[in-house]
Amino acid sequence: MTRTPFVVANWKMNGNTQANLAWIESAKPQLHAGHYRCDIAVCAPALYLTQLVDGFKNTAVMVGAQNCASYEEGAYTGEISAAMLADVDCDLVILGHSERRTLFGDTDELVAEKAKLAFSHAVMPILCVGETLEEREAGRTIEVVTRQLRAVLDVTGIMPFVAGAIAYEPVWAIGTGKSATPADAQAVHAALRAELAAYNADASQKVRILYGGSVKPGNARELFEQPDIDGALVGGAALKSSDFLGICDHANALTE
Ligand code: PEP
Repeated sequence: MTRTPFVVANWKMNGNTQANLAWIESAKPQLHAGHYRCDIAVCAPALYLTQLVDGFKNTAVMVGAQNCASYEEGAYTGEISAAMLADVDCDLVILGHSERRTLFGDTDELVAEKAKLAFSHAVMPILCVGETLEEREAGRTIEVVTRQLRAVLDVTGIMPFVAGAIAYEPVWAIGTGKSATPADAQAVHAALRAELAAYNADASQKVRILYGGSVKPGNARELFEQPDIDGALVGGAALKSSDFLGICDHANALTE
């Protein structure tokens, strides 16, 4: 089974109208439809989704959000619903990022509700799972990521992630410059795929499992060479278009 590699930028709470425009303009010559055979997405703060949808017109780049509400609509001041994301032509949404889990109280149950709503509005979820350093050192990595995965798939089933993706992001590797070794990441990705197979063996072979945690142009290739690493979720290195495109180039090379 060959899965199309997928590289996703997570801009987090960075950017502004002018800086976003500069990023789009500098990347566009390489992002026109047909240049890349891998899939590419940029996930931005919700305020800028429309700017990205317009800016990436006539390219194959998908646009994603970084969160959505766990409610359909109503009196939830400050929240942005999955239906609203769909309304502005947003393709994807990152859910369960460790920053949301630790700083904003996103529990497994909330993430499951958000994923269910997103998929029902045809916004494809990218589900993040990952262990803390303490959990890794206690030998609990597989237990933790399996719990996070099951909590969502028991509610949504596997199909949302055939269209979206799973991202394995060890918390200790996010924004630290310390990436998991390709072999360590591969071991977790293989365990996640085995778990996915318990839901549907055929579909489990189609789900892209991305690695996230200090991916840069210099370490992307060896990560992407692992059989169950199907791309990357990229934070820091996605803020500079040239670094991000350097990572996309490595993913694209796998399609040759
Ligand atoms: C992330 O926040 O999803 C991420 C992977 O960040 P970084 O690439 O900076 O580690």
